[in-house]
Amino acid sequence: MRRPDLTTRLPERKRNMRYRTRLTAPAAVLLGTAAATTLAPSAHAASGGTAKGASGGSAGQGPETLGDPVYPNLGNDGYRVSSYHLDLAYDATTKLVDGTATLRIRTTQALTRLSVDSLGLDIRSVRVDGRTATYEQVDEKLRITPARTLRAGTWTTVCVEYGADPRRVLSHTAWVATPDGFAVCPQPNSAHTVFPCNDHPVDKADFTFRLTVPDNLRGVASGALVRTENLSGGRTAYTYRSRSPIATEIVQITVGEYVIKDRQGPHGLPLRDVVPVARAAALEPALALTPNLVAWIEQRLGAYPFETYGLLPCNSDDPAAFDFTGLETQTLTLYKPNYLLQEERFIGSHMMHELVHSYFGNSVSPGTWADLWINEGHADFYGLLYRYERGWADSIGLTTMEARMKNTYARGDQWRHDSGPVAAPNEANLFDSQRYLGGVLVLYALRQLVGETTFTAIERTFLDRYRNASATTENYISVASEVAGQDLSGFLRDWLYGTTTPRMPGHPDWTVTPVTARLAPQNRTAGHHDNSATL
Ligand SMILES: [Zn+2]
Repeated sequence: MRRPDLTTRLPERKRNMRYRTRLTAPAAVLLGTAAATTLAPSAHAASGGTAKGASGGSAGQGPETLGDPVYPNLGNDGYRVSSYHLDLAYDATTKLVDGTATLRIRTTQALTRLSVDSLGLDIRSVRVDGRTATYEQVDEKLRITPARTLRAGTWTTVCVEYGADPRRVLSHTAWVATPDGFAVCPQPNSAHTVFPCNDHPVDKADFTFRLTVPDNLRGVASGALVRTENLSGGRTAYTYRSRSPIATEIVQITVGEYVIKDRQGPHGLPLRDVVPVARAAALEPALALTPNLVAWIEQRLGAYPFETYGLLPCNSDDPAAFDFTGLETQTLTLYKPNYLLQEERFIGSHMMHELVHSYFGNSVSPGTWADLWINEGHADFYGLLYRYERGWADSIGLTTMEARMKNTYARGDQWRHDSGPVAAPNEANLFDSQRYLGGVLVLYALRQLVGETTFTAIERTFLDRYRNASATTENYISVASEVAGQDLSGFLRDWLYGTTTPRMPGHPDWTVTPVTARLAPQNRTAGHHDNSATL
């Protein structure tokens, strides 16, 4: 797997940053039993970690960041996760979850302590290579001190036992509690409210899920079903395994009164929808659209990258159950069910958007959250192409890509002013239209410049090269230049990072509307990302 080395971009300030240690009485409760006796935390414990050079020298504490420009507190360094085994049991009476997360990791430096991301989990025990480890929960980090220092470049198993309450109120959460269970929407930074993890898309890993549920419920997760166990006490355990690595932000785990609807996609691709029993008939017209959507996108981007695809219309009518219409959780896209009850012309474009994420966003994950435009720009680009090809007018009544891009182009400077350049978001404006339609505009400009044949070759080369890995904006620029046989870095950097909108190739007559002080913020409620033009 290719992984951009984020540590090289880590500002010195961050590397030396001291983390505040909260050791008030309630926080002390979070300390493990062993920790309480052997660990003596103090205000000066917890430096942000040692220099990367520790791999060749003395052991240190793993950095509690991967240096992400949008979410600097997300992720941890000093190791990479190879696989997660999540063993979760749902109790329908208490509506609580008991979990065991087993992480197979490989150290990249010698470690006296490492951290994983964790929020709102009741940690009960931590073992490292089978031995009890001390731990403490500080902010959104679970700090783990193994009994023995971990040498650089070695395989280690970290096992965390914990409890979780899908209804717990947190500053942010991935849990979607439903009357009959739950689903999860981890993007961008909330997988660690469901399981302790290295919660950054640069550290993708293999996943196995074992979900134990009462017999009347179904547990389903990303990947394919590999085992069903009938257990005593009226319980069943379903084990799912992913064939390809998954970024933590797009894991799906769900429990509820679901029926599995199997169907066939192109060239025998197994499609699998997970549908609320009571809504199965009503949702069937939408679900039946998937095979043709897959066939259409495969003609443009090549073979669908995973072992299966399907939709999970989650069993909730709550309009605030989660703050977007659909989320591309790998192999099983999460949807609000009522959205899918509409006619094809109102949903087909967005269903294409979510399907495209299997390629851009899932098979190739963003290297940092500043690269989100690669996910959303491509998803909207192909989603809109599909819409106009089918003759469906978009939400502002336009019927061609050219007309929509001319309209978007006019807003270019205002969006750069309000939401930052396309590839330079911050946490507050991350999911603004600039990442969606703004990204489409960049791709359209590139296609205008190099022509459709070369553009398609760029897309396919990029997908091929970074399949099952993560890629940055710089990676996309490099592939574009290489495939086009010309240095496109200046052209693309102007489009991606410029504060004003460049000229559109082939459309010298297009004009940009001058910036007004400030438009109303675009749906800036926390985490909202319904800015797709395919809706
Ligand atoms: Zn999207």
